[in-house]
Amino acid sequence: MATGYVWHELYGWHDTGTNAGLLPGDSTMLQPYLHFESPESKVRFASLVEVTGLSRHLIRIQPSPATDEDILRCHTPEHLARIEAESDHPRGGDAGDGTSPFGHRGIDIARLAAGGSIAALNAVLDGTVQNAYALVRPPGHHARPETGMGFCIFANAAIAVAHARAKNPDLRVVTMDWDVHHGNGTQAIFYDSPDVLTISMHQDSLFPPNSGPISEMGEGAGLGYAINVPLPAGTGNDGYLHALTEAVVPAIRRFAPDVIVIPSGFDASCFDPLGRMAVTASGYRAMTRVMMDVAAEVCDGRLMLTHEGGYSPTYVPICGVTVLSEMSGVPVEVIHPLYEGFDDKPESRLTDAQRAVVAEVRAAHSL
Ligand SMILES: [Zn+2]
Repeated sequence: MATGYVWHELYGWHDTGTNAGLLPGDSTMLQPYLHFESPESKVRFASLVEVTGLSRHLIRIQPSPATDEDILRCHTPEHLARIEAESDHPRGGDAGDGTSPFGHRGIDIARLAAGGSIAALNAVLDGTVQNAYALVRPPGHHARPETGMGFCIFANAAIAVAHARAKNPDLRVVTMDWDVHHGNGTQAIFYDSPDVLTISMHQDSLFPPNSGPISEMGEGAGLGYAINVPLPAGTGNDGYLHALTEAVVPAIRRFAPDVIVIPSGFDASCFDPLGRMAVTASGYRAMTRVMMDVAAEVCDGRLMLTHEGGYSPTYVPICGVTVLSEMSGVPVEVIHPLYEGFDDKPESRLTDAQRAVVAEVRAAHSL
């Protein structure tokens, strides 16, 4: 069965302005440049999907803007109203924390990003496609009910899950976030829900500060339905695969979801300027295969990936196309021999420290 793909030119128009990475550039000390969350990595990913010919094998899914009703399932009316109001400013605004800028009418693109995730999940659930990748922008997994943060305006993945559950209240969903940062927004939105198991594999103590320790496990009826795997800085392919097979897959098997959603960041890559991990494109391919296999086992292969972070303009496209190749079964080899050498670096190997974290997660959740 086919693989779905969401992309819209407007995702490349989301305007994060001039910046020197995260810092505001100025005319005397720090030369203005691009914000880390510039269009580059995502637009070049979409371009490579075309240039490799992969796009001819994918089912294009058209996104529609998320409605107020869609957004308000996960966010407060005050948050939505503030983004709407700031979007009317000629120079746009910020989603809440001072590092999540958007341009004039930025809300229109943020609605389209959430709508892209909704459309991709719908297509998977109604059987139009086997699996789907929503290449959306701005990202969503840090956005909390009451505020945006970390470049995110609305919680795209959570909004898609809530939309699907509004149509089918019995739907059981796993979100398995492999962005290098903690998926704190998705977790917060479903923290008291036993029907959505949120899992986040992320770099320990990166962003948000003090977020995503193993001890965050859900609350109330949702206690036990939030799983965090805070891996040590430097973790590469084998460490990620160990965490997936030893902690994540057993948790998914036990939960037995109807569909799996992956907030997909490529900022755990070895070339990312914001992460300190060492995953290669081959590693992402292997992780995709593990997730496809467990999806095949527990939920007829229903799997939706929605794009989050990833800030290497040259390597994100390679990781992304490699993942899409695995998802679709279309053989596309875009890894340059120069990059293949990174698969065999010492940081690709599993360490005792990584093994210990995974053992601790297993013990905390009785896996
Ligand atoms: Zn990230």
